[in-house]
Amino acid sequence: MTQAIANQTKTNATFRALKCKECGAEYELQAMHVCEYCFGPLEVAYDYNVLRDTVTRESIQKGPHSIWRYRPFLPVATDNPIDVGTGLTPLVRTNRLARRLGLKKLYIKNDAVNMPTLSFKDRVVSVALTRARELGFTTVSCASTGNLANSTAAIAAHAGLDCCVFIPADLEAGKVLGTLIYSPTVMAVQGNYDQVNRLCSEVANTYGWGFVNINLRPYYSEGSKTLGYEVAEQLGWELPDHVVAPLASGSLFTKIYKGFQEFTEVGLVEGKHVRFSGAQADGCSPIAQAYRENRDFIKPVKPSTIAKSIAIGNPADGVYALDIARKTNGNIESVSDPEIIEGIKLLAETEGIFTETAGGTTIAVLKKLVEAGKIDPEETTVAYITGNGLKTQEAVQGYAGEPLTIEPKLDSFERALERSRTLERLDWQQVLV
Ligand SMILES: *Cc1c(COP(=O)(O)O)cnc(C)c1O
Repeated sequence: MTQAIANQTKTNATFRALKCKECGAEYELQAMHVCEYCFGPLEVAYDYNVLRDTVTRESIQKGPHSIWRYRPFLPVATDNPIDVGTGLTPLVRTNRLARRLGLKKLYIKNDAVNMPTLSFKDRVVSVALTRARELGFTTVSCASTGNLANSTAAIAAHAGLDCCVFIPADLEAGKVLGTLIYSPTVMAVQGNYDQVNRLCSEVANTYGWGFVNINLRPYYSEGSKTLGYEVAEQLGWELPDHVVAPLASGSLFTKIYKGFQEFTEVGLVEGKHVRFSGAQADGCSPIAQAYRENRDFIKPVKPSTIAKSIAIGNPADGVYALDIARKTNGNIESVSDPEIIEGIKLLAETEGIFTETAGGTTIAVLKKLVEAGKIDPEETTVAYITGNGLKTQEAVQGYAGEPLTIEPKLDSFERALERSRTLERLDWQQVLV
């Protein structure tokens, strides 16, 4: 890691140190992620007095149409970050979905259309690779459940960095092709994500590469705070009452929370008690299980679910996610694979948004929480949709119906239309009896 520890630049930066989340020990702003004293995870610390004095709503609004409008809150020193248009995705006020669920004010934060690779991972990678470049890395890498490999390969291509990514060998075709197309080196590991991650930790120790979610993890994870900032800005500089987000490592969830805290701390929004609810798949629900069993530690599990993008059996930030859900009076729930497919279809049919399995998990958990009375209909609720359905087509193959094949003739069309209407009526009669 020689090049990594070398020249770290810190000019007009507002970030000042890496700080252990457990014991508070502070370190230089280098490529490292674990405390040398207590093995706790490191997090970037900022000078909030400087931020309070220099950042205003107007200065943010005058910034770029991307996550980089929040640059003073992100751990990069450069004024010239890698900007591929990541962020500022739509916050959609739902109408039909809200009514279907019985909520008054339900929003979808739609990262299914994030740039450049259609998932929230473009946020964390834009930040990680900008920082990697500052720290002098020329090769970047990651341990991925699919979306992270897409983002790392695409943004490395844009920035001219060498790239080698590691994925589990059994990923969805769209995620594999969506990485290969950028011509990185792709290692398909015969094992699950947790095994991929262990291998990558060894590689990171011996090669001088910047692993976005290992040695660069403190910088990388800060990118997720922008999911908090954007929602606050898009709600007219206000915080919602309740958020629902998917949990893999738990990082995204904790950073939305940190984003809200920071905006409150520097006076950009008024403080508010926001409830945080997390979503997992039954087939990989170590955090939901700990929540249900009232434990404050995570028992690792072996994943088996169609929600591969969030299938992390040993979640690095699991205990912090647990803590946030508990102290904000939120919840952590899990749902079955059939419920995940129903969730994908429900969002598509009511709002015209096609999400992947992680989004199906979030919508299914949202529904479950509303039905259990754990989300109040009066609460302003935001559900985070983190990935795009075109990448996980296998998951819904056979559940979305078939097109009506017809001859290029009007009477063929009319017969098919009549037949489909009859079938629809029959369906409804079955529902009614
Ligand atoms: C990676 C990922 C997540 C969760 O990320 P963590 O920060 O590890 O909890 C959620 N949704 C999608 C689509 C992802 O790719």
